[in-house]
Amino acid sequence: MHFETEAIRTQNERTQFQEHSTPLYLTSSYVFDDAEDMRASFSEEKERNIYSRFTNPNTSEFTEKIAKMEGAEAGFSFATGMSAVFSSLAALLDSGDHIISARSVFGSTHSLFTKYFPKWNISHSYFGVNEVDKIEDLIKPETKIIFAETPTNPGVDILDLELLGKIAKKHNLILIIDNCFATPWLQNPIKFGAHLVIHSATKLIDGQGRVLGGVTVGKADLIREIYLFSRNTGPALSPFNAWVLSKSLETLSVRLDKHCENAEKVAQFLETEANAENVKYPFLKSHPQYEIAKKQMKKGGNIVSFEIKGGIEAGRKFIDAIKLCSRSANLGDTRSIVTHPASTTHSKLSEEDRLEVGIKPGLVRVSVGLEHVDDVIEDLKQALNSI
Ligand SMILES: *Cc1c(COP(=O)(O)O)cnc(C)c1O
Repeated sequence: MHFETEAIRTQNERTQFQEHSTPLYLTSSYVFDDAEDMRASFSEEKERNIYSRFTNPNTSEFTEKIAKMEGAEAGFSFATGMSAVFSSLAALLDSGDHIISARSVFGSTHSLFTKYFPKWNISHSYFGVNEVDKIEDLIKPETKIIFAETPTNPGVDILDLELLGKIAKKHNLILIIDNCFATPWLQNPIKFGAHLVIHSATKLIDGQGRVLGGVTVGKADLIREIYLFSRNTGPALSPFNAWVLSKSLETLSVRLDKHCENAEKVAQFLETEANAENVKYPFLKSHPQYEIAKKQMKKGGNIVSFEIKGGIEAGRKFIDAIKLCSRSANLGDTRSIVTHPASTTHSKLSEEDRLEVGIKPGLVRVSVGLEHVDDVIEDLKQALNSI
């Protein structure tokens, strides 16, 4: 069936109450008929719910749906996007292993690589957006994983998934893609050779700024390792959040189409503004990786970045002048959000480190929402004119 149909019709079996929409299963554990039922369940001869740290009907429905949307064999859902990233990597890595990662990764993922994994003797090497031809030079005998996000945050750069898939295959490495900015509606990394796809469901999957969640889908044997690690360490998604997120997926395609339509208009508007330079949106012809974006994405997504003329002070002034859009660090909400990474999310990095991940002093990231796009443009325009 088609994506939109799976998003709506992938649903748990109805209970005796014949509910139309899946109910919320707030139960920590499940009961067994007899000793034999218990034995068979615990030995996994029988697939069934035992305890909600392992599985729950709501988390299973959400996971199954995302797996179908990504074309994956299996999945596991987590309390947050970061618990999905951490648990998936920790389940697969051993002491002494090495990760090759794109340099532009989510801030907390960068902290995992640089601050926490070294504690367990797990090392990493970074490659820049313009250094994909050098990835193979970074491979060592102990390399196990290639990790990347595309589009990147906050620079909105695009990495070539087909190329990453080929390198991973050739060297027998596990390719993991954080697909948060694209969602399964716009991009399916498994088609290009990814073994695992991770989402922060907190962003566009929820889409309304309500709950946190995360999910990893992909190859069944890898997911099995991740599941066993997670059922012992306890990062499971709550049934309530899974229930919210599963319903959000029913409208993912229509929401995303509108997000993309609005974002493209905002990007086109910004290109005409004298105070906004270096406007980046994957589906603008001026985007440095426009051809790659067209090859691997259905639409350009909802994130637009640009640089304010005048650097860090102008960036702060611009943020202060914003009236309608929200000043927030989140993204992928119905409400448009503006962020100035240099003075907020990435302020702890040195200027040099910021520049390495493409964060210029005046860089602004706009997460374009679902308000009428003319109102969003009007707000950006008056703020640009006030600096
Ligand atoms: C937000 C985000 C995460 C982390 O997700 P949480 O749900 O906040 O833990 C990971 N990767 C990317 C690309 C993100 O934008």
